[in-house]
Amino acid sequence: MMFCQYFYLGPMTDKFQKGDNDNTLFITSACTNRCIMCCQPPTDVDDSDRLLERNLRLIETANTDTDYVCITGGEPTLIEEKLFLYIQAIRKRMPDATIHLLTNGRRFADNDYTIHFAKMADSHFVLGIPLHSDNPIDHERIAGAKGSFFETMKGLHNLGILGYEIELRVIIMKDNYKRLPQIAEYITLNLPFVSQVSFMGLEVTGCADRNYHRVWVEPIEFDPYLTDAIRYLECCNFSAKVFNIPHCLLSVILWPYACRSISTWKKTNLLQCKNCSQLMNCCGVFCTSKKYSSFIHAI
Ligand code: SF4
Repeated sequence: MMFCQYFYLGPMTDKFQKGDNDNTLFITSACTNRCIMCCQPPTDVDDSDRLLERNLRLIETANTDTDYVCITGGEPTLIEEKLFLYIQAIRKRMPDATIHLLTNGRRFADNDYTIHFAKMADSHFVLGIPLHSDNPIDHERIAGAKGSFFETMKGLHNLGILGYEIELRVIIMKDNYKRLPQIAEYITLNLPFVSQVSFMGLEVTGCADRNYHRVWVEPIEFDPYLTDAIRYLECCNFSAKVFNIPHCLLSVILWPYACRSISTWKKTNLLQCKNCSQLMNCCGVFCTSKKYSSFIHAI
């Protein structure tokens, strides 16, 4: 185990602009899931009005050519019509922006809600939805919510029928890493319409820090399973990516899939990184993580 030794920590952006992956709106702390590795643990406090006021100001001052805005929480669909106020405001100010909505997908199991959503949320949308396993028992233990597996699956299908672009997110942890190849196979058989499968490393804060011994697995342990899963997806013509895992913790064969995914304001590098040949290619680590892999090393 290693504790953070920063040499850089950038500020969170206060202005949306073109080409920036930091353009993120946090719109509610509430959620219907209680995921064991959640880095932003939900609360029962209704903060959606306060956040709406602040976020609308941010949208109104955004550069009009901004091409990417992420909406996250909590669970964004819980704030009902306020979500559509956000979408209208973004469309008005940044007509060409792709909106990346991070949701647990459960609300879209409701056919009426999904039809209403489709009327309000037209084009340039990507929905990022987590799938924790290929079976309900594991998925619901990780999500901390009974019935969540079938609701998420139905939600995915409803969105798929409507032609939405879907990014499936598989967060790698102790409870699911050995089944990554089975999860990949399940996706190819049951969710052939998803446009990307993103395998994600943990941000060790919030519940992930609290449940550290229950969720953390060293990348060196999951690497062979991840390699098999990605190879399988590729054979089936699926796009696969790796998020939030530094190059030095991945086998070289996985480097082409590894993205510089950590937002600038959340990204840092450790002292080891200073002399690393992969510094410019690697995603670095979360400055918000309380613990890091002890295998991080300069390449
Ligand atoms: S040591 Fe290199 S590969 Fe590892 S986190 Fe730092 S920059 Fe990335």
